[in-house]
Amino acid sequence: MAELYRTAPLETTERAATVVVHCSDPRYQPHFHDFLRQHLKLDHYALVAVPGGSQFLTLAEYLPKFSWVGWRWFKFLVGITRPERFILIAHDDCLWYKDGRFWSPAGDLRQQQVRDLAGVRAELAERFPAARVELYYARLHDGRAAFEAL
Ligand SMILES: [Zn+2]
Repeated sequence: MAELYRTAPLETTERAATVVVHCSDPRYQPHFHDFLRQHLKLDHYALVAVPGGSQFLTLAEYLPKFSWVGWRWFKFLVGITRPERFILIAHDDCLWYKDGRFWSPAGDLRQQQVRDLAGVRAELAERFPAARVELYYARLHDGRAAFEAL
């Protein structure tokens, strides 16, 4: 019989009250996890981890189908979690942003990311006025990540 791996027991909550969106870049996963669990004390949250993080919510003009799918996932998660809080995290040296396959990155990458985060925050505030939106920017240095609140 196959051996089972069992996680440590956690208190279960019916639904997460937080939705997190961040990039799926493998360099950042342990740091995002650490930040959410250790710093923000989040044991349960709904997560969308895709290349570029919340940028998919800004692409209605360039990639309408892409944006439509992203918003569908997002609304689904919001429907099952009824979040009081959205946490959006962008990061330095984002390869999705640098790729430019689907759009032309113009100017400073960080500025573009911060502008996109602000745009998504405004959109979320309009669609889900009861929830608060927190923005963070992460940067790796010497094997550690620093998270700046925006
Ligand atoms: Zn990235």
